[in-house]
Amino acid sequence: MEYKEAVELEKRCFAQVFGRLPLLLTKGKGSYVYDDKGRRYYDMFAGIAVSSVGHAHPKVVKAISAQAGKLMHVSNWVYSEPQLVLAKKLTGLTGMERVFLTNDGTSAVEGAFKLARKVSGKPGIISMEHSFHGRTMGALSATWAEKYRKPFEPLVPGFKFARYDDLDSLQDAIDKDTGAVIVEPILGEGGVKVPLDGYLKGVRDITHDKGALMIVDEVQTGFGRTGVWFDYKRAGIEPDILVLAKGLGGGFPIGALMYSGMDFEKGQHGGTFNGSPLACTVANTVIDIIKKEKLVENSKKVGDAIKKELEGHSIHGRGLMLGLDVEDGPKTVLELIKRGVVTIHSQNTLRMLPALNIKRREALAAVKIIKEVL
Ligand SMILES: *Cc1c(COP(=O)(O)O)cnc(C)c1O
Repeated sequence: MEYKEAVELEKRCFAQVFGRLPLLLTKGKGSYVYDDKGRRYYDMFAGIAVSSVGHAHPKVVKAISAQAGKLMHVSNWVYSEPQLVLAKKLTGLTGMERVFLTNDGTSAVEGAFKLARKVSGKPGIISMEHSFHGRTMGALSATWAEKYRKPFEPLVPGFKFARYDDLDSLQDAIDKDTGAVIVEPILGEGGVKVPLDGYLKGVRDITHDKGALMIVDEVQTGFGRTGVWFDYKRAGIEPDILVLAKGLGGGFPIGALMYSGMDFEKGQHGGTFNGSPLACTVANTVIDIIKKEKLVENSKKVGDAIKKELEGHSIHGRGLMLGLDVEDGPKTVLELIKRGVVTIHSQNTLRMLPALNIKRREALAAVKIIKEVL
């Protein structure tokens, strides 16, 4: 299929909800993607921080093929080894007690809200201004952007917002009906906004103090993205509930809802596809690759090199979750595609979220091109 045909078909048959970039991508290798004409691009966004170990990693390709030939799906009526191996890995990595597997980040967030209400017995949930937690009714109720929420009101009752990176605002918002507070360690869709040191710790202290649960949304920041395995660990806190997704499957859809000191009762939550042998095999492989190839360290190293290269510009973020403020976000993204670099933007912040195994020289070559358009 050629680009023109793709555009025509999408326009005619597909839900008109996505503002697509003018790109028909047909294959990828490592940190490169290729379009229908065979043109190569530096992939500096990894499908929104998802392709954590790059495209077509040989170990992922091998694992997914082998598992597909063995057993792809069984449902949760039975036990399955890849699922339990993953549960052990995830609880080991995070220090959280239990995991419920989902197919994406949004449903991990939904599960978190259900669990918080059930356990706390209180309906109130506080999320932060400019945060993004998903687009189903519950997750949407916690998502800030008015344009996402407004047309679908009334949303779930009991939600309110506090200002991000502002503990006083949280103090004002929290009350006796607050069951949980949900927070991103760094705002992702909100423009790669890094809070002051001590912010997460402050949220933890306030929630402890007020008897509310703390949900940390590491859907985007998790699995080495910010130069540490999980950003809450840097803050030295333990959340009650943790939600994960994007980088976990390296491109295969899978998410995780994790928690300690609480649980659902049998039958209160579930899902047909959740934690399939195929999804879990891929996630297990991705985690092993991140460990073995020291990709958390690489994320920090290459991220620091990018920052250094862009010194003097408004560059913010940590590891390979970086934002660069530009004059015109959408225009810059289009100009970069012409020059062979794929990125995304939140308003006028260019977002760089490449694979965690991007090589220093690849990242710096892409940054050189980015500098040309600034
Ligand atoms: C992307 C994202 C979500 C939603 O995840 P999906 O996999 O798109 O459902 C939730 N929270 C954060 C912080 C995200 O970046």
